[in-house]
Amino acid sequence: MRFLLLFDIDGTLISSQGKAFAALLGAFRQVVGAEPRVEGYSPAGKTDPQIVADLLATLNDNQKTGDHLAARVLRAYQEVLPQVLKHEHIRLLPGVAQLLPVLAMHPHVVLGLLTGNIREGAQLKLELAGLAGYFALGAFGCDSPNRNQLLPYAWERAQRAFGVRFSPQQTAVVGDTPADVACAKVWGAKAIVVAGHTHTASQLVRAQPDAVLPSLSPQLFLPVCLSLLARPRQG
Ligand SMILES: [Mg+2]
Repeated sequence: MRFLLLFDIDGTLISSQGKAFAALLGAFRQVVGAEPRVEGYSPAGKTDPQIVADLLATLNDNQKTGDHLAARVLRAYQEVLPQVLKHEHIRLLPGVAQLLPVLAMHPHVVLGLLTGNIREGAQLKLELAGLAGYFALGAFGCDSPNRNQLLPYAWERAQRAFGVRFSPQQTAVVGDTPADVACAKVWGAKAIVVAGHTHTASQLVRAQPDAVLPSLSPQLFLPVCLSLLARPRQG
């Protein structure tokens, strides 16, 4: 039996140390011509279109003039990100550099992405991190602003690429926020989360993931992940 592992990017595989969000804010200011309120706002777990909608919602109506603002902000972000985000801004999170080569060689594992990034943003971040070659497919923020709608895109693309219709029991989402847990659970898939970057273990436990790990070290991840996926669904 094969398993589909779908990784989130920011806070799970890498940190761009705030640079990507700063680029999105820059694109927002350039297109909208207004300053959104971001005090206390965290983009963690949100899709790029959702973040832009949240930022637009902080403005008064007279600041939101013009058509298709959100789409135009995302296009500007796509253009500005390669100019702003560089290799030296990207930090691989603990265990990632060791885990991905092991998973890539695993005969039963198909690796993909489930990320709120638009496709071009995801591609750039992974290229800068040296991780682009590991992922055969993905579901992205440009597929739907609602993260809970993304998993079927990954299943459909996996079926097209590998001829396998992965069941929820054969699928795990790996992320760092309660939103990563929710987007797996809503379809009956497994959710594994890594604590410490954006959320503490106790914050994540409240979202009822199947496992909370302190890092993506292969020694921790592999036994947990493979036993979860091999186990028949309970209840
Ligand atoms: Mg994340």
